[in-house]
Amino acid sequence: MNYRHAYHAGNIGDVLKHAVLARLITYFQRKEKPFRIIDTHAGIGSYDLSSEETQKTGEWQDGIGKVLTTPMPDNVAELLAPWLDTVRAANPGDDLRYYPGSPALARQLMRPNDRLTLTELHPLDFKKLAALFAGDHQVKTIHLDGWLALNSFLPPKEKRGLVIIDPAFEVTDEFDRMATAVIKGWRKFSTGTFACWYPLKDISGLFHFHDALIQAGVRDVLTLELKVGKSGPDTAMLGSGMTLINPPYTLASEMELVLPWLADVLHKGPGAGWRVEQLVAE
Ligand code: SAM
Repeated sequence: MNYRHAYHAGNIGDVLKHAVLARLITYFQRKEKPFRIIDTHAGIGSYDLSSEETQKTGEWQDGIGKVLTTPMPDNVAELLAPWLDTVRAANPGDDLRYYPGSPALARQLMRPNDRLTLTELHPLDFKKLAALFAGDHQVKTIHLDGWLALNSFLPPKEKRGLVIIDPAFEVTDEFDRMATAVIKGWRKFSTGTFACWYPLKDISGLFHFHDALIQAGVRDVLTLELKVGKSGPDTAMLGSGMTLINPPYTLASEMELVLPWLADVLHKGPGAGWRVEQLVAE
């Protein structure tokens, strides 16, 4: 396991992932009934952008850095507020130093009866994650393989919930593992919302992932993508996507407002753009 999210915190992939995650949780808050969030690949929870790792790549400057410093239209500001308010709350001064990862973001948006289950496999990253939430009775941190653990968490006893799957994509069969885990999970919790993040690199892997969901009979599948384009002729296309099962009915239209603005602001070169596509109807 070489991947450490500290090198990438706040980058363009996190922008898409965390903007969507905050919209999902905001939707869950509409009903009083408690919900559970399960984050299978949690990372360390929150990131210090002045750390050696983060400084080495500076990726956040092309992601959250640009989002926070670019004026945005009111409708976009309203939709991004649940996410950006958590970033602002982590940085009381004017400087951006701390960036909430998916666990810290989710935790800030939870109500007193909502619960968060986090798995992280890297021993050092798990140690930091566990320390961040030590003593928090609403959060359970588990040092386990998220792919294996997911099955035992579903269905959650709250019967309302959101599963976030955000693998490191270090291995070539990550899309296959994601398809197997998601299909199995959906069979146990078919009313749950599943949100899977992926980098836009292995397009044939992505195609097979989507095809596996379709063949398994999964309904209500939405895909969202944000591409910032190629920064030079020899560089790879930069972008990422999320595939969601049972998303809130509001999400597609919200993202049709947010993604064009993000694609414009984060634009690096040719090929920048966005996609919102319902792959399988309800
Ligand atoms: N979700 C986090 C966020 O948004 O702040 C970032 C997660 S990062 C992209 C992926 C994480 O998965 C890494 O911290 C890595 O150590 C962890 N990881 C890799 N393989 C895993 C596995 N099989 N089970 C659980 N965690 C794993």
